[in-house]
Amino acid sequence: MKAPTGATQLTAVIGSPVRHSLSPTLHNAAFAAAERDWVMLAFEVAPGSGAAAVDAMRTLGLRGMAVTMPHKTDVAAAVDDVDPAARVLDSVNTVVLRADGTTFGTSTDGQGFVGSLLERGIDPAGARIALLGAGAAARALIDALGRAGVADLAIVNRTAEHARQASELAAQARVGDTDDIRNADIVVNATPVGMGTDELPCDPALLGPRQIVADLVYHPLETALLQAARDAGARGVGGLAMLVHQAVLQHELWTGERPDPDVMRLATEGELVRRHG
Ligand code: NAP
Repeated sequence: MKAPTGATQLTAVIGSPVRHSLSPTLHNAAFAAAERDWVMLAFEVAPGSGAAAVDAMRTLGLRGMAVTMPHKTDVAAAVDDVDPAARVLDSVNTVVLRADGTTFGTSTDGQGFVGSLLERGIDPAGARIALLGAGAAARALIDALGRAGVADLAIVNRTAEHARQASELAAQARVGDTDDIRNADIVVNATPVGMGTDELPCDPALLGPRQIVADLVYHPLETALLQAARDAGARGVGGLAMLVHQAVLQHELWTGERPDPDVMRLATEGELVRRHG
């Protein structure tokens, strides 16, 4: 990457903690590949200061901002405009500074997941989905999968009440159980189970050869769930694919051009190997 100058356009990722964020790796790789004089830096922003960061974005003229925990809800309230899906989710992971100086917030997580399936020729339209988890990521997926036209979306979660609340986000969504995992076309892990461990988010005996198993966890790249899916003859989709695709959509919103997903993927794989071996 060439050294920034006075003409360099700045983007930011905010979070707390933020040092682990892969957003600078994803976006700076794409900026460099496109020979675009833009850079992304990570800013540690204290909990409760998300709105101040949106003000700073306007003041400093940051072209785009990626938003991670714990600021997604505060930022949704602080931007000038929010897209309807992000309003329903009360969560924004992307802010765009428009030419007129106003800010627009949206969430690319759900569409990023759908994009990671479509990239592999997997169309969720008409599919029966079993979704493990009912947290922020799961909620974004429920909204996007509902819009993508899935036939059935069974939410299997540790806390039943959270599953019930999340099921209100899409007409096809409902509270599910382990039978739904067995009968699903696509099983999705949207819990943190398996992150940095070899734990499984469901009984591997429920997985079968005609299924697709997607794991949102991307560390390790090959999770225990993906290994179990392979052992069962199922097809696996790792969490890096969603991470890359949600960043592709962010990048497109900021620059108006679609970056090369492979450039982002390779840079991020390299960074994960550098960190974790
Ligand atoms: P979150 O809001 O904290 O939600 C976590 C969900 O997992 C909740 O439904 C929770 O159940 C459940 N859960 C947590 N620990 C569990 C356990 N030990 N056993 C069973 N269920 C458990 O987290 P999130 O933001 O949705 O993130 C979930 C995972 O997705 C994380 O690993 C995150 O890194 C990953 N993620 C990946 C991407 C990507 O691009 N690949 C994007 C976003 C998130 P309760 O309702 O009972 O608490």
